[in-house]
Order: sequence, then C-alpha cells, then structure tokens
Amino acid sequence: MVKFDSDYSMTINGESVFTENCLPAYNPATKEIIAQVPNCSREQLDFTVSAARRAFKLWSAININERQAAVAALGQAVEDHAEEFMALLTREQGKPRAGAEWEVYGSAIWLKAIATQSLHDELILENAERRVVTRFTPVGVVGAIVPWNFPLLLAVWKIAPALVAGCTVVVKPSSNTPLCDLKIAELGKEIFPPGVLNCLSGGEGLGKWMTAHPDINKIAFTGSTESGRHIMKSCSDTIKRCTLELGGNDPAIVLPDVDPKVVAPKLFWAAFTNTAQFCNATKRLYIHEAVYDDVRDALLQFIKEHVKVGNGADPDTTIGPINNAQQYEKVKEYFKDCRDNNFKFAVGGEIDESSPGWFIPVTLVDNPPESSRIVKEEPFGPILPLLKWTDEADVIARANDTYFGLGASVWGKDLEALKRIGAQLEAGTVWLNEIHQYSPDQAFGGHKQSGLGCENSLHGLMEYTNWQTVTLNKVPLSTP
Ligand code: NAD
Repeated sequence: MVKFDSDYSMTINGESVFTENCLPAYNPATKEIIAQVPNCSREQLDFTVSAARRAFKLWSAININERQAAVAALGQAVEDHAEEFMALLTREQGKPRAGAEWEVYGSAIWLKAIATQSLHDELILENAERRVVTRFTPVGVVGAIVPWNFPLLLAVWKIAPALVAGCTVVVKPSSNTPLCDLKIAELGKEIFPPGVLNCLSGGEGLGKWMTAHPDINKIAFTGSTESGRHIMKSCSDTIKRCTLELGGNDPAIVLPDVDPKVVAPKLFWAAFTNTAQFCNATKRLYIHEAVYDDVRDALLQFIKEHVKVGNGADPDTTIGPINNAQQYEKVKEYFKDCRDNNFKFAVGGEIDESSPGWFIPVTLVDNPPESSRIVKEEPFGPILPLLKWTDEADVIARANDTYFGLGASVWGKDLEALKRIGAQLEAGTVWLNEIHQYSPDQAFGGHKQSGLGCENSLHGLMEYTNWQTVTLNKVPLSTP
C-alpha cells in the first residue's frame, strides 16, 4: 500500500531505496519543509542504470501488447490514487485544486492513451528479388529529466512513450518537486518488472551525471532553454539522443473585432494558468489599438471579480504561489526592472514580502516598450505585458522577433484573418481562438530555441526509437 504523505523513497530495480543524507521538499504556500527525500549518490545512479540496462533486454523483447497493458495499468493506478496525488501536488507545487485535477487526471488519460499507440514496420520495397523494411527499435535506457511546473504530467509525457516503445526509464524530478514522481514510480513497482521504471531524487549533480552517463542512450528533457543548452552539449560527448522541450515567450494577438468581455477571461487564463509558470503561457499580449483600452479594462474587471491569490489548498484560491525561492527572486527582478523604467502597472506591481509563502500578485504592465526585458524575456511568473498594435504585418514581425518558438495564439471573429496570421507565426503550436489544447495524438514541441524534437503523437513515440532498415536479397547467392 503506497503512502502518499510519508516514506519518500527512490525506486531502483524494483526496490524502495532511502539514503541517510536527504534533501528537503517545501510547501511553497508556507515555505515549510514537508518532506525529506533521498539524495542519490553517483554509485546509486550507476547501479540504477545497470539495472535499467539489464531490464531493457527483457522489456524490449516482450510483446508490445504487454507493454501497452502495463502502461495503461499505471494510468489506472494514477486514477485510483487521484485524490492523494492532487493533495500532494498542491502541497509540493502550490497549484490550486483545478490545476491539480487537470494535471493528475491528464496524467492518467495520457498513460492510457499513449498505451494504445504503436509503430509499425514500414515496407519500403517488396518484389521477387528484394524486401526492404524500416523498423523502429527502442533506443535503450532513457533518462527523463523533469521540471517543477507540471512535475507529474511532464514525467508521464516521457515515461509512457518510452515504456511503450520498449525502453527502460530513469526519471529525475526537479529537486523542487520530487514527491509525486517518487510516488508514481513506487506505484510502478507493482506493475513493471524490476529496473523498467526507476526514479531518483537528488541535487544539482544528478542531472549532469545522467546527461554524461555513457550507458544512458537518450535524454528526454523539459526545462529552461539555458539548461537545454548545457544538456545538449553534455549529450554530444556520447552522441546521446535528446528531446528538448524548452522555454517560450508565446505571443497572443488580439484582433480588432473581438468582444472584450468575452475574450478577457480566456486571455487571462492563457497568461496566468499555473501562476504563469507555464512554458506555453501567453507571455506577450498584443491587442489591436481599437480595442486595447476595452480589453485591458475587461481583464481588470475579471481579475477583480474572479482572481484570488493564495494557498492552493484553500478552495477559494484561483492562483497559487510561485513554486520556489529561486524562481520568486527571479520574478521579483522583472517587477524591479519595470519600476526602475517607470513602466505603468495596470494592476498589481507590489509584492508583499512578509506573506507566508512565495506569493506574487497578478500584474499587468500597460504597454511597455517592445525592447523591454518584460517583453523580450520569459519571466515565468504572473506579470504580463499588454502591447498595442496597429498594422498586421508589423504585429506578426514583433510576435516572431524572439529566439523562442514554442506556442502562439490569435483571437478574433474573422476566421480568415486568424488563419492568415496564424500561418505566419513561428511556433510549434499555433492556437486560433483557443489555447492550451493538447492531445496524446498531437505533436508538441518548439521551434527555434524552444526545443528539439517533440513529445506526444506517433512522432513523439518515434523519438524513443532508432530506425533500422533491413534489406533482404531473396535471390539465391551464386558464385560469380
Ligand atoms: P530547469 O531547466 O531549471 O530544470 C529542469 C530540470 O532539469 C530539473 O530537473 C533540473 O534539476 C534539471 N537540470 C537543470 N540543469 C541541468 C543540467 N545542466 N543537466 C541536467 N539536468 C539539469 O527548468 P525549471 O526551472 O524546472 O522549469 C522552468 C522552465 O522549463 C521554463 O523555462 C519553462 O518554459 C520550461 N518548460 C518547458 C516546457 C516545454 O514543454 N517546452 C514545459 C514546462 C516547462
């Protein structure tokens, strides 16, 4: 019986492993230590990778139906423990109930859906003389490195396809949010053979040892572009495969024909879901000048009526805290920069540092210059620049003027205009009159410095495989 409020152990080769030396886990709404988790040593990583490599032989050889059934069973186990996962997720990550529901049930749905996917051999040529087939063989041991904003879902986005493809996995959660990932791996002990699904918690060194490890064949990473750069460099030493899901600075373009009151709630959540700690949050809101004031005022009204920043465990809370002290300090810099440059706050702007948790008020910056840090960088916190536009070509150029290319959205009544503008945006996902619609069947990834490769869909599954082309000469060999 898995206990969710204690006994946080690593899962290594089917065993629960504790360490003497531990690391604290915090509740961001109170800054209290809520758990101690193991601090994985280098020897423990090596042992885990050897176990995963041994398990790979067996796991990759069994019928895919068995692997799919096991992954679906993990989805069912998450669903069966949804209440415990949601409470734990709120405690370690800070997100309110609605966000925890989305993530936990989403994780169960994803596991079950990815468990229905499979890759088929491609018959390239078949005639009397030759047969040529391309197969998809599992890549080997996968290191899954996970961030703190969606710790369970983004682990599942890696675990599910890797296991279905026939790989074995070593998950490394962020040290800011290790608890749910340790527990999902513990549930996996009842489902998978030893060594197939492992989870290690640790400090700064652990991720780096993984990316450099000669017996890990692929790194599946979600995190910042800065870390992605280091990871790609480290993977290059062993020509490790890597999938990188990185940062974003997603623009939203609002056309002049919108109804401000109707669109405002959607734009609000586009930007502030998960306290704006969301790779795909709208981080630049370009509003046509004809409706700029009305959309801004409708956003202010919505915030006044519907937004309550607080402890995610409180049922009235709609926006939780920032997840950790480091991120809190980083977001504060953007507030200071806006103040130092005399940018106007339409709402928010003042952080009460005496509050019990890492809380930051929802803040709108009223039309700062395009060159400002708040427009050019990814704050990853609840501060959003509202920007005016007049000319379509100009706003598209501004939207694309970034080294990021994760997501983008366009909002308006004129569907032709939506499609025309959307087609010109440089981003892995372009949403038209909606946002944050994901699916296990939809490829998700970033253009430019927002990533490499993709997750989800058969394209995402393929990322856990090597192509192998097998050619057969059917003509009996004869001496020349
Ligand atoms: P982060 O890059 O600091 O850390 C992510 C994970 O990588 C953590 O587990 C961390 O311990 C590990 N890590 C960091 N440096 C490493 C290194 N050099 N070698 C190996 N492992 C290393 O990111 P974060 O602060 O946890 O998450 C926020 C960032 O993630 C934001 O930039 C956000 O946009 C991005 N993100 C992207 C997506 C996406 O799908 N594209 C989704 C969520 C978050």
